[in-house]
Amino acid sequence: MILTYKIKHNQDYSKELILAEKIAWHGKYTGSRSSADVKQIGLKSMIANQILKKYSNHKKLKNIKSVKLAIPGQGIKIKGNQIYLPCLKLSLDIYFNRNFDKINQIEIGKEFAYISVSYPEVEQITPTSFFGVDRNSTSHVLVASNTKTGKVMKLGKACNHIHKKYKSIRTKLQKKAKLKKVKRIKNRENKIIKNINHKISKALIQRCLKDNSGIVLENIKSIRKTAKSRKKQRYFLNSWSFYQLQMMIEYKAKKLGIPVFYVEPQYTSQRCSGCGHIEKANRKLKLFQCVECGKVENADVNAGFNIAELHQLGISQFSKDRDLLEGNTDIPKEAMVLKPN
Ligand SMILES: [Zn+2]
Repeated sequence: MILTYKIKHNQDYSKELILAEKIAWHGKYTGSRSSADVKQIGLKSMIANQILKKYSNHKKLKNIKSVKLAIPGQGIKIKGNQIYLPCLKLSLDIYFNRNFDKINQIEIGKEFAYISVSYPEVEQITPTSFFGVDRNSTSHVLVASNTKTGKVMKLGKACNHIHKKYKSIRTKLQKKAKLKKVKRIKNRENKIIKNINHKISKALIQRCLKDNSGIVLENIKSIRKTAKSRKKQRYFLNSWSFYQLQMMIEYKAKKLGIPVFYVEPQYTSQRCSGCGHIEKANRKLKLFQCVECGKVENADVNAGFNIAELHQLGISQFSKDRDLLEGNTDIPKEAMVLKPN
């Protein structure tokens, strides 16, 4: 299992980062993979090599932006409770679990270091039931429903209200042009939300462990498409906090061997989890009422049951997780914080 940790490095590498970008462009246009070709640019050859590896002949890459200084495993030393990078004379504290196999690579950006760490694989549990997780919820950040046990978890009620509160404070300050204060308040809000996300993901994972359950989530990109019209939910669906929560669920589940699956969110809010009947008229705001069999259920809970069932019907993708965990540092900055608590 590979996890990426983010940590503030408190150094100014702006000069080196400009050189790194030059090397990336060079790699992209010449296809060169040899640091000897970019020697004149003047960045350490070990770092130049890593950058060339990433950018040379990278056909999919249209635009080169925020190139980072990449240091391979052999350039990373561990001294006590610190990581030391001789090539940049940089020390970083190890705040994450020490029982890793190795540190694969460290990428240094303007403000943060992204540390890619390999941990030994954990044996995966064989779930006997599944929690379907609805994140389209109007009243909570997350509603998880277990089809087999009937257990329902409604988590993160305070979030919407926190966002509203801080947004109104920010708007007032913006009018008075107090921008520094606006930023400080945004940071405070981010911290609170992150804390809530940690609590939510922890509660869900612990329940799964106790019930020997797997997790089924809706594909995040598809949710955005289907929920476009729902104004109220747009904030959460488009925000990094939503993404951050998914990442936390993923990595906490991985650590304990709980499998996470993804389904396409088709009809999850219109389908009756009792009889399977699909009709738009079934959904009545917060309440789900089936026109066919008469089943009445909280709309979010019904959606959660459907999500779990979609997986049990065999329509799901196992998360290998592509974007989220395996060293992709291009994901939203705020979402990256994986500091365990
Ligand atoms: Zn029904």
